[in-house]
Amino acid sequence: MRLLQRFLPNVSFLHLDSYEIDESSGCFVMHLSSTQSIVPCPICNQLTQRVHSRYERTLADLPCTDFKLVLILQVCKFFCLNDECYRRIFTERLPHFAPPWARKTERFVNQIRSIALSLGGAAGARLGNLLGYGSCGSTLLSHLQRLALPESGTPSVVGVDDFAFRKGHEYGTIIVNLETHRPIAILADRKAETLSEWLQAHPGIEFLSRDRSNIYKKAMTQGAPEAIQVADRFHLVQNLSEVLERVLGSYRSELKQVEKAQQKAVLSAATEKTVIAKPKPTATQRAERQILSNQKRRIKQQRLIKEMQAQQWRPCDIAKKLGISRTTVERYGSAANLPTVPARRPTFGRSLLTPYKQQLLEWWNEGIRRPNALMERLRPLGYEGTLRTLQRYIRRLRYAQGLPPVRVRVDKPLPKVNLPKLPPFTPRQAAYLVVLKPENRQEQEVELLALMVKQHPDLAMLVDLSDAFLQMIRHRQSSLLDNWLAKVNKSSINPLRTFAKGIVDDYEAVKASMRYDWSNGPVEGLNNKLKMLKRQMYGRAGVDLLTKRLIVSI
Ligand SMILES: [Zn+2]
Repeated sequence: MRLLQRFLPNVSFLHLDSYEIDESSGCFVMHLSSTQSIVPCPICNQLTQRVHSRYERTLADLPCTDFKLVLILQVCKFFCLNDECYRRIFTERLPHFAPPWARKTERFVNQIRSIALSLGGAAGARLGNLLGYGSCGSTLLSHLQRLALPESGTPSVVGVDDFAFRKGHEYGTIIVNLETHRPIAILADRKAETLSEWLQAHPGIEFLSRDRSNIYKKAMTQGAPEAIQVADRFHLVQNLSEVLERVLGSYRSELKQVEKAQQKAVLSAATEKTVIAKPKPTATQRAERQILSNQKRRIKQQRLIKEMQAQQWRPCDIAKKLGISRTTVERYGSAANLPTVPARRPTFGRSLLTPYKQQLLEWWNEGIRRPNALMERLRPLGYEGTLRTLQRYIRRLRYAQGLPPVRVRVDKPLPKVNLPKLPPFTPRQAAYLVVLKPENRQEQEVELLALMVKQHPDLAMLVDLSDAFLQMIRHRQSSLLDNWLAKVNKSSINPLRTFAKGIVDDYEAVKASMRYDWSNGPVEGLNNKLKMLKRQMYGRAGVDLLTKRLIVSI
């Protein structure tokens, strides 16, 4: 008994009278009584001990091993003795155990709520059933709905971003306290009026961080005219990178020159002579041709078979005449149309050897060239291909080094073999290099950039102006902005001038982003969490439930 008493909720007024196990319903039933003899009236708080009546409450509690735990509790109704109080009779209150009229204990509800918070309705119900809580999805969601949102005073720094309920159709707005990185609210749409109303209801915000959208700009100007708007730096850099890509797209031949020069530089800079083992494109082209011609042959054969069938030829005669088997005759004859050329398998062109090539080349260049010896070293690393595959690759290496295909003893020093390293230099890649922080650029990338600016004076100017802009953003040099804008306006690069015009339109917010440290980074992170929650909750992710799961569970 004393041990069982310990299993009860941690309150002082419960006494365990008896217990029983009901095998048929799988319930462990505990009979309890309340020991409270003097209680306060819930309305006037005056203490009373005059009992009106006794009655029984049945409460579900946490499951106990394989049994559902059911508490049957004797409680009292009391008279309020205060003449001034309008309540005459009241039920005994059970603080920290269960609210009046509840059918579940407080600790039971807390656990169900935690499950609902972290898993949502459907998944939560599945886990709940497994653990013996036996609540359905709707019950879980209703527990969430009843949950009160934590009170948070008016934050002084707030980030705003949109998110999709359904991509391309419905959007909502997420509002985050940027000082604590905690979400404050979710709005049902991304209209200016909605945000503006929310801002008016929460006066006193000092800083508002946002993306470059005009809608939020308008909402913030209306709803919180005093607040300083800060354009998100990440979005500014992203905008610049798009502009760069567009401009660089019209300098493709220059980029090609850069690529060639760099390739040459890499090869000649190597202290030892290096060759590249290139894949053999001819083999795949030949294979494609083969597949196509096979297909043509089959289609022709099928046509013949159908014609002969129409002229009442017997299958075995057709087979004999065309020199094919009877099964083929039947298969082709009964099929309406032969399938077209099968699609390439997704792993086309990728070898089981690919992940090990780098290591393999190291051994190769060290002079280990016997296929069997290489195989012995590859196996422990997890290579699952055949020796034949390895031999085919080795043949390519030998070809690249100018060796005869069969193994002969070679005494002269050989050029090193390398994997093809440099990806093609596309406008996107070039734009990425420009935007990359200088300290994150690798040596090769620095050289690429240097080569690029040499190709054309426009390219040099483009990189120069972009660098200057990124500097202002990264080192918060708002005072240089006007000068930069003037320079861009004098330049001949049109997309960059359009970009500058956009900045002039949003001048204050962009300037603020070069002065203050606030950014929408934390908002983007929460946006990802929101996406996860939304997917978990399928169609039932209404704003209300989403808000609760996002705000309370973090
Ligand atoms: Zn009272």
